[in-house]
Amino acid sequence: MPSNRSVSRKDCSHHWVLPRPGGPTSHGVCKYCGAEREFSNTTASGWVARAAARKK
Ligand SMILES: [Zn+2]
Repeated sequence: MPSNRSVSRKDCSHHWVLPRPGGPTSHGVCKYCGAEREFSNTTASGWVARAAARKK
């Protein structure tokens, strides 16, 4: 996790950087705060869950 970033994970509106797809999941890393998350490539549930979470 980068220590020279002013944004915290809590306040970050994550911008997920995903590697090229090809497996059942993609390991995304936030461009801003370095947070990590797994995204499913087999269904859209990962993206749907993320969108729903951001509404709250
Ligand atoms: Zn972030």
